[in-house]
Amino acid sequence: MKEKYEGVQSFTEVFSCGMKRICPACKQGKMFRTYFKMNDHCPVCGVKYEREAGEYIVAMYINIFLTEFLFITGYLLTNHFFGWSTGTQIVIWASFNALFPTWFYPRSKALWAGGLQLGSGLYSD
Ligand SMILES: [Zn+2]
Repeated sequence: MKEKYEGVQSFTEVFSCGMKRICPACKQGKMFRTYFKMNDHCPVCGVKYEREAGEYIVAMYINIFLTEFLFITGYLLTNHFFGWSTGTQIVIWASFNALFPTWFYPRSKALWAGGLQLGSGLYSD
């Protein structure tokens, strides 16, 4: 008989599992085999992460929204409080817009997996 796991129960747990990139169904298995490649199934509890192609497009929206929110907010704040030159702002925020979404990519997918678990629940085949 398969062991029963208690999945994420709140947005706090979704956030915690998402930032750690661990399975939201068992809170133990690693969701990614490389930095960019997500496992098909959880190595611990066996749930299938992606049932249909494009199911994780919401993760891309989460990533874009957060990146642009932080960029615009950060630009406005640094422009107001520090008065940096346009060249300095371009270097800082162009770098941010390249690096942050790359760093956040697996986390956004793990966050969305947590959202799926919180909603209808992930399940194995
Ligand atoms: Zn799992």
